[in-house]
Amino acid sequence: MLVVMQSHASEAQIRSVCEKIESLGLKAHPIPGAGRTAIGITGNKDAVDLGVLESMPGVVECIPVTKPYKLVSLDVKSEATIVRIPTPSGDVLVGGPHLAMTAGPCAVETEEQCLAIAEQLQPTGVRLFRGGAYKPRTSPYSFQGLGLPGLKILDQVRRHCGYGIVTEAIDNESLDLVEEWADVIQIGARNMQNFSLLKRAGRAKKPVLLKRGMAATLDEFLMAAEYVMSEGNYNVMLCERGVRTFSDFSRNTLDLAVVPAVKKRSHLPILVDPSHGTGKRHKVLPLSRAAVAVGADGLLIEVHHQPEKALSDGMQSILPSEFAELSNEIRQIAAVLRRSVN
Ligand code: PEP
Ligand code: MN
Repeated sequence: MLVVMQSHASEAQIRSVCEKIESLGLKAHPIPGAGRTAIGITGNKDAVDLGVLESMPGVVECIPVTKPYKLVSLDVKSEATIVRIPTPSGDVLVGGPHLAMTAGPCAVETEEQCLAIAEQLQPTGVRLFRGGAYKPRTSPYSFQGLGLPGLKILDQVRRHCGYGIVTEAIDNESLDLVEEWADVIQIGARNMQNFSLLKRAGRAKKPVLLKRGMAATLDEFLMAAEYVMSEGNYNVMLCERGVRTFSDFSRNTLDLAVVPAVKKRSHLPILVDPSHGTGKRHKVLPLSRAAVAVGADGLLIEVHHQPEKALSDGMQSILPSEFAELSNEIRQIAAVLRRSVN
C-alpha cells in the first residue's frame, strides 16, 4: 500500500498520516520525492482499509502496490535515490548523476599492507576504500579475516587518508562492530538471503551495500533490499558481482544486463564488482568500462600492491597503477554519459 501526499502537503499532515498508519499496527515509511512525498505501508497481512487514510488532509490517493517489493520500487519513488556517505574528506554521493568508485584489497591482512595500498591509491582520487575484516571463505581452512583488529586497521586508513570505509559484516555480531567502525556495511553474496542479518542491517544507521547472491534472481535480489528498507534503512546500494552459470572461462558470469533491469524497477543505485564477477585480473578493466557504459552507479574493485602475495583473491586483484588507468578511463566514459565520478 502506498499513500501519495499532495505536493504541498505540510510536515504535520505527513506526520499525522504516519501516526494513523502506526496506530493501525502497521509501519509507515515516508519517502520524500522531488514532487511529492509518498508513504509506504508495510506490515499488513491483509488489505488495509483505504477509506480512513484517503479522507485525511493532504492525501491525494492510496494505491495498492501489487508487486512483491514495495519500498525498493519506482512506484514509491520515481526519482533515483542518491545515497550520501559521510567520510572524513566530505560526503561521497552514489546514484543519480553521481558515480562512486571503491577500491582496496579483498582482505585486510596487515596495517602495512592496507596503508601501502591506500597511499598508492590516493592519487587516483578514489574516495571509498574496501577491505574485508570478516571473510566468508569457502574453506574453513582459508584465511578468515582479522576481525576487530582488521576494523581498527581500516580505521587507521580512514584517519590517515580520509577514505570512507566499506567492509563486510557476516553475522549480527560483526555487524554491530562494522556499524561502529566503518562507513558502509557490506552484505556479501553468501548472506544475501540471511534475513535476520538483513533486518539487523535495516536497523543500522549507516548505508548498506548489498551484493547479489550467486544464484539470486532479480526479484530475490530486490526482495533482499526490501528486507533492509522495511526496517527503516533506506540507504541501500545494490551490487552485481556475477552469478553462477555453465560458462567455464570465468569465476562467475557478470550479469551486466541486470543494471538496466534494476533501473526499470527500482530507484536504488546499483554498483558493479567486476573483480568477483570475473575472477581474473585481465577482465577487470574491460568489464569496468562496460559496467559504467550500461549505467552502473559505481564500481567495486579489488586492488593489491602485491597480488601474488595476497591472502585472498590475488588472481583478480589489480595493481594500484592499473587502477589509476581504469579510473582515468571510467572518468572519460562517465563524462560522455554526463555523470561525474567521486
Ligand atoms: C567481497 O567483496 O569481499 C566478497 C566476499 O564478495 P562476494 O560477497 O560478492 O563474494
Ligand atoms: Mn574478494
